Amino acid sequence: MVRVVILLRDRCKPKDCGKPCIKYCPRVRAGDETIVINPDDGLPYVAENLCSGEGICVKKCPFGALRVVNTPEAVGGELTHRYGPNTFELYRLPIPRPGKVTGLVGPNGAGKTTALKILAGEIKLNLGRYDNPPDWTEIVRFYRGSELQAYFEKMEGKKLKIVHKPQYITKLPIAVKGEVKDLLHKVDERNVTTRLVKDLELTGVLERDVGVLSGGELQRVAVAATIERDADVYLFDEPSSYLDVKERIVVAKSIRELANAGKMVVTVEHDLAMLDLLSDYVCIFYGDAGAFGVISHPYGVREGINAYLDGYIADENVRFRTESVRFDVRPSPPTTITVEEMILKFEPMEKKLGGFTLSVDGGEIRKSETIGILGPNGIGKTTFVKLLASIIEPDEGNPPDKKMKVSYKPQYLSADFDGTVTELLRDAAGKNFSAGAYDSEIISPLELRPLLDRPIKELSGGELQKVAIAACLSREADIYLLDEPSAYIDAESRLAVARMIRRTVEKRGVAAFVVEHDIMIVDWISDRLMVFAGEPSRKGEALSPTDLRTGMNSFLRRLGITYRRDIHTGRPRVNKENSRLDVEQKAKGEYYYVA
Ligand code: ADP
Ligand code: ADP
Ligand code: MG
Repeated sequence: MVRVVILLRDRCKPKDCGKPCIKYCPRVRAGDETIVINPDDGLPYVAENLCSGEGICVKKCPFGALRVVNTPEAVGGELTHRYGPNTFELYRLPIPRPGKVTGLVGPNGAGKTTALKILAGEIKLNLGRYDNPPDWTEIVRFYRGSELQAYFEKMEGKKLKIVHKPQYITKLPIAVKGEVKDLLHKVDERNVTTRLVKDLELTGVLERDVGVLSGGELQRVAVAATIERDADVYLFDEPSSYLDVKERIVVAKSIRELANAGKMVVTVEHDLAMLDLLSDYVCIFYGDAGAFGVISHPYGVREGINAYLDGYIADENVRFRTESVRFDVRPSPPTTITVEEMILKFEPMEKKLGGFTLSVDGGEIRKSETIGILGPNGIGKTTFVKLLASIIEPDEGNPPDKKMKVSYKPQYLSADFDGTVTELLRDAAGKNFSAGAYDSEIISPLELRPLLDRPIKELSGGELQKVAIAACLSREADIYLLDEPSAYIDAESRLAVARMIRRTVEKRGVAAFVVEHDIMIVDWISDRLMVFAGEPSRKGEALSPTDLRTGMNSFLRRLGITYRRDIHTGRPRVNKENSRLDVEQKAKGEYYYVA
């Protein structure tokens, strides 16, 4: 093990604490300058060569800002980058290959964006020597014999053209102004606009200003603008955010075409069915989020995703999760619901919003049941959930029983709460907050402990999502409504959230509706399904809940997509269009669960 000291800079508040890290450090007391205040930023700096690693400073820090972490010996010599003293360390790099897509998966804070920025040349890698950075000759020598040698040689000679779709596309309208069609024509170096506009269904938004697009529209425009550039290397950071299932699949296909044209492609993806569809190779990021990240060697896509679900990388003998994840190949059989079991029966309703109309067929949900909601963007899923939560009233039909207690996590989260995570959760959980089970049921599964003292306003999108889910499940209710809980969070957290929702619902004998676009999570979480059909942004129909097989078939038939199962994990994999299985399954009408 190689020991390093990490300071979480956003958590350290040296003005407010009397600096117990320095005061109690045994080496400082013995007269060494092991921890000193860095005059540049006023933060403590730990001299790692003097530190004895007893971790007293870690225990004394009231903000949990210091950590002593051990990185595996095996990767010690493969340190790629360190931002500065006592900061995050990245080990190894993904290897871009011509004609191939390399998919990156792993938790937030493990260095995926850092790795992409290094490959983009936006960050010059320093091999950990932030105080004495190597020049290109040395970097190239370091990678001698690996495929990265040629990559960095070309980068140094400015012979590599690279485009990068960043993670946070909501900043895009600040950088580019004007109509979508002008933007797309301006960057079209490969003469592909017409095809992309058709494939990515952008015809309807060409005349619109970039500033008024929805998240899903903006994402598709950003992907199109990236593909249009004529480059050697294409880097995509989370291209499926904000997209529905169909949009995810067309984006995946468009990205794959770059590889077919011989380009090098690297993409970060949390939706495992998308990752599967996109990639030729998969690299798993593991480590200690915020402290260090290690990139696994590249694996074939099937092997890589299965290792990820197993939580174990055999070649490197690394276990990063205790439980492995398996999927039910056979759906739970349809059952009839008795009156005693029923929690809610909702009647047919209709709601108009501007030019959009939603009709809801009636339905019911019972104790211990989770209903997954599937449908395209703009079809009225959020509107339905708001009707159930009595946030809006139907224009026709009876609203759901007002006496029923609902707890609702909206799709769009707001951070306007003046207080910390602890305060928010205590408000939500009441007396349960101090109960022993709260920790094991809510705090631990979502790894919220390090966030507890943080102000809500300072959380990242993914952190805010986890806190909002925790708050929703902390309230006592008969029905839990969760609108897109996997947005902004990594695959690992999605699995944790899915497991937590199921356990809560089963244990308390309550019920939940979950709107979700990540098909594996829907599969994993749902007892039954509710499918929304119609014409996005004009009219939607919320079909009655059905058993899983009927629901998946109804949803996927509309998209024309079939899935097969991985033999090892049972996870769903998209069939190639017109492949033997695709044709067979469509003929049988079995789009998802194959006997
Ligand atoms: P991911 O994309 O996997 O979520 P990132 O590469 O964005 O991870 O971040 C990895 C770690 O690097 C995080 O702990 C982040 O706080 C840290 N980090 C990112 N940029 C900087 C920087 N400029 N200086 C110091 N630390 C940074
Ligand atoms: P989904 O959750 O399935 O993406 P929503 O229920 O959010 O869909 O929206 C369905 C349609 O209703 C969209 O076209 C949206 O623009 C429209 N809509 C939603 N709220 C309003 C509103 N307050 N006024 C006018 N139109 C609205
Ligand atoms: Mg919605």
